Amino acid sequence: MAQHFLLSPAARDMSALDVARMREATAYKLFRLARWPETDGKTYCPDCGNLRCYEMSRTRFECSERQCRKVFTVTSGTVFASRKLPFKKMVFAIWLSANSVKGKAARHRQISLTCTY
Ligand SMILES: [Zn+2]
Repeated sequence: MAQHFLLSPAARDMSALDVARMREATAYKLFRLARWPETDGKTYCPDCGNLRCYEMSRTRFECSERQCRKVFTVTSGTVFASRKLPFKKMVFAIWLSANSVKGKAARHRQISLTCTY
């Protein structure tokens, strides 16, 4: 019989304490690795797949392809796009949902993260 994911060692590699102690830069790095796992977190254009992108600011990028020129961030095209939460809070929200057997109620998440639904 297959083991439930939450009982496996892979589910225990990050605790709530680890997330609480995490710095904003580390949370951002986790988002980059999750967004671009094939290139080990190195940016590529979500539209054309061009690997050469300019870094406009710390979190904004622009595709160098002449026809494309798309400006994007690590959250562009995801459910986290246009978010106002810091990356650390978003990592904690994901951690809460991933480590609950049946997910977390929106109200509980709202209280845990001190943010609105
Ligand atoms: Zn592009």
